[in-house]
Amino acid sequence: MRFKNKKMTDSKVVIIGGGIGGAAAAVALKAKGIRADVYEQAPVLKEVGAGIGVRPPTVNFFKKWGIYEDIEKVSARSEHMEIIAGDDQVLVKEAWPVLTENKSDAYARLIHRADLLDTLIAHIPEDQLHLNHRLTEVIDHGVYAEVKFANGKTIEADLVIAADGIRSPIRNQVLNRHEPVYSGYLAHRALISTRAALGMASQDNVLRIYVDGDNSVYFMPLEGRDQVSVDVTVPGKFARRPEVTKKELMESITGFGPNIQKVVENMDMKQVVTRPLCDLEHVEEWSTKCVTLIGDAAHAMLHNQGQGANMAIQDSGELAETIAESVTIEEALQKYEEKRKPITRLYQDLSRLFPTDKAETAFPEKAHF
Ligand SMILES: Cc1cc2nc3c(=O)[nH]c(=O)nc-3n(C[C@H](O)[C@H](O)[C@H](O)COP(=O)(O)OP(=O)(O)OC[C@H]3O[C@@H](n4cnc5c(N)ncnc54)[C@H](O)[C@@H]3O)c2cc1C
Repeated sequence: MRFKNKKMTDSKVVIIGGGIGGAAAAVALKAKGIRADVYEQAPVLKEVGAGIGVRPPTVNFFKKWGIYEDIEKVSARSEHMEIIAGDDQVLVKEAWPVLTENKSDAYARLIHRADLLDTLIAHIPEDQLHLNHRLTEVIDHGVYAEVKFANGKTIEADLVIAADGIRSPIRNQVLNRHEPVYSGYLAHRALISTRAALGMASQDNVLRIYVDGDNSVYFMPLEGRDQVSVDVTVPGKFARRPEVTKKELMESITGFGPNIQKVVENMDMKQVVTRPLCDLEHVEEWSTKCVTLIGDAAHAMLHNQGQGANMAIQDSGELAETIAESVTIEEALQKYEEKRKPITRLYQDLSRLFPTDKAETAFPEKAHF
């Protein structure tokens, strides 16, 4: 056993992927006194322009890691969300569920994905971030792994954390192969000014989802930026990078009220990012003795419950805690899987439910806690 007598805090941990999951894992491990190096294929770390609702259990981890005050500065407190039919018939107005022991946690924080990622990265020492490192191969030697990059570098690690997204090359090489599953829906996303939202969203920190059947348009205010994150989710043909014209987009939202149509009509198509909505079937195996999956690599889910980033961050928090509490990495990975599989599977399943004009709750998860 190559690393048998090593203390957990002396273990060499590498994280592949510098998205929200990978960055959160580095911060979570740092809070436990464990150094982890992050390797990212891109030349810069950045996120697409969209809002995220940071949920109470995620907020609790930020507090434990000592970064909550910095998150607070770039996010806004939200008390509830709404599902609305037409332009103005409120079907559901519901407080963000608590689902933690601390009742004062009944809120979410609305944040731009880039601001969240930047805040996490600001808490990772610079010498632990390695850009332009595209992993090409992982060789699992049982108690350690070798990682090879396209730039010719090879490293060894006691633990490799795969935060490499829905198409995870690590999962596909050393665990089991999974391809993304297309939902049949495209999401068209843009950031617009509050004024351009024409009153469909205001700076009151309420996430509003307008529905027509199971098509939806959501407006998430981003207070500090005086912007609104808009997401139009409608059926469409699969492509990795779909190209959609304004005419096609307008034809897909004819069932919505005139204000929504006007907002979308005014959107600059150069600023609209269209993506096919994909998730994964449940991934049975998450870990070997020295490699484990977090975030979308383990359990990519559709955006309907707004839980993908939340789950990636909570995976990171639980993984860091189990590593710090365990005697061996194998034991830590087993405990981590036991904690995280049930909840992430629940959200994967619930996230396949699209918000509809028959919705009775915005949070079907409440029935399961
Ligand atoms: C527009 C939008 C809105 C969303 N809204 C919400 C929301 O409201 N709430 C919520 O909780 N979630 C939301 N999500 C989902 C959430 O953002 C994702 O679930 C989350 O970002 C997953 O993080 P990750 O780090 O696991 O994966 P990713 O963000 O996919 O990061 C993977 C990283 O790995 C890198 N990588 C991949 N392959 C390699 C390789 N071979 N070598 C090196 N690096 C590699 C990639 O470049 C990337 O940086 C939203 C997603 C989108 C797109």
